[in-house]
Amino acid sequence: MSCADREHPENRNLITVAWAGTVNSEPPMVSISVMKKRYSHDLIARSGEFVINLTDEKMLWAADFCGVRSGRELDKAAAAGLTYRPAEKMMYAPAVEGTPLSLSCRVTRTMEMGSHDLFLAEVEAVQVRADLMDDKGTVHLEKAGLVAYSHGLYQRVGEVLGFFGWSVAREEVYRQRMAVVRPEQGYELKSARFLAKDILQAAVHAGDRVIDATMGNGHDTAFLCELVGPGGRVYAFDIQSQAVRNTAERLEKQGLSDRASLFQEGHEHMPERVKEPVAAAVFNLGWLPGADHRVTTRWETTKIALAGALELIRPGGILLVCAYPGHPEGDRERNEMIRFLSGLSNRKFNVLRQSFLNAGPGAPECFVVQKLH
Ligand code: SAM
Repeated sequence: MSCADREHPENRNLITVAWAGTVNSEPPMVSISVMKKRYSHDLIARSGEFVINLTDEKMLWAADFCGVRSGRELDKAAAAGLTYRPAEKMMYAPAVEGTPLSLSCRVTRTMEMGSHDLFLAEVEAVQVRADLMDDKGTVHLEKAGLVAYSHGLYQRVGEVLGFFGWSVAREEVYRQRMAVVRPEQGYELKSARFLAKDILQAAVHAGDRVIDATMGNGHDTAFLCELVGPGGRVYAFDIQSQAVRNTAERLEKQGLSDRASLFQEGHEHMPERVKEPVAAAVFNLGWLPGADHRVTTRWETTKIALAGALELIRPGGILLVCAYPGHPEGDRERNEMIRFLSGLSNRKFNVLRQSFLNAGPGAPECFVVQKLH
C-alpha cells in the first residue's frame, strides 16, 4: 500500500498490509487496518488517501521488506528497487510502477479497533497493467502471478479451481468459462524437449534471469522470455549470425524483444556476459535446423560452457541439456557429458538423466542438474 504526506507530498511511503479487504460494492469500498504507531498511519490520517498495489512474485521481496522496515528510517521504495507512478484521482498518494492492479482509495471513516485503526475508504479508480487486459477489456488477474499472505507465509496464487457462481452454472456456461480461465493442457510424454519444457515451467518464474546457451531458431529463447515475463531477462548465445537473426525476428513478432540480450558469441564466453545469478541455463545441443550440419556444438566448448553455467546458476536453479547422440559428434558429446555430470558432487548437485528406452540408440536425451546450495 502506498501513501504520502499531505504537507510534504514528496515524502512517500510503502507499507505492507495483511488485513485488507473489500467491504462494500456500491459504492466500491475497502478497509485496511494499520497500527497507530506506524509511519504510514499518520500519512493516511492526514492526507485521507492510500493506494492498494497488488503484489506479484516479482514484487514479493520488496513487499516483505516494506512490511518490516520503517519509512521513518529510510526511503523504502528506493531501498527495495521500486518506483512510484501517479495514481489516478489521488492528490498525494502514488501507486507502485509495475503492480498488476492498483486501487486509488479515499478514506471516509476511521475506526479505533484497539491495536489497529481501521480505515474505511471508497475506491475512486482502478488501474490494471496493460498485459493483464485482453482485447475485450476483460481483466485476467489469474495470469498476474499474484502472491497471497497466509498465517506468516507468502504463497503463490495458483491453479484456477472454479469461478464465482460455478456451483449453480448451467453446464454450457460452466464449460465456456472454464475453457477461458483454465484452458486444457494435455500432457505429452513425447520427447526430451517436452520434458525439458515441463521442468522449465516449474523452475522459472516471473522476474527470473535465465540463459539460453544455444539460440538456434529462437523457440527456446521465446519460451523462456514468456516464463520470465516483462521484469525478467534471457541471455542467449549462438555462434551463427543466422541463428541470432532468426531469434531476433521471432522475438520481435511475439513482442518479446525487450526481455532478451542476444549475443553472437560461443556459449563458452557466458561468464564474460552474464554477471548475475540465473534460475536456469538451457542447452539444446547439435546443429541449427535447416542450416549447415557441420556447424554443431562440440564437447570442447560445451564443457567450458557447462562449467560456466553451473557457476552462474543460483542455489535451487537448474541446468537443462538436450543431447542428440544420433550423429558422431553428438554421440561423443553425450558420452563425455555423462562422464562430466556423473563426476559432480552429490552434496552440491542433484543430477538426472532422462532417456526414452524404447526409442532406439540415437534418441535425444535430457539431462537435468539442480544446484543444491
Ligand atoms: N534452442 C534452439 C531453438 O529453440 O531453436 C535450437 C538450438 S540448435 C539444436 C543448436 C545451436 O547451437 C545451433 O544454432 C548452433 O549454431 C549453436 N551452437 C553451436 N556451437 C555453439 C557455441 N559454441 N555456442 C553457442 N551456440 C552454439
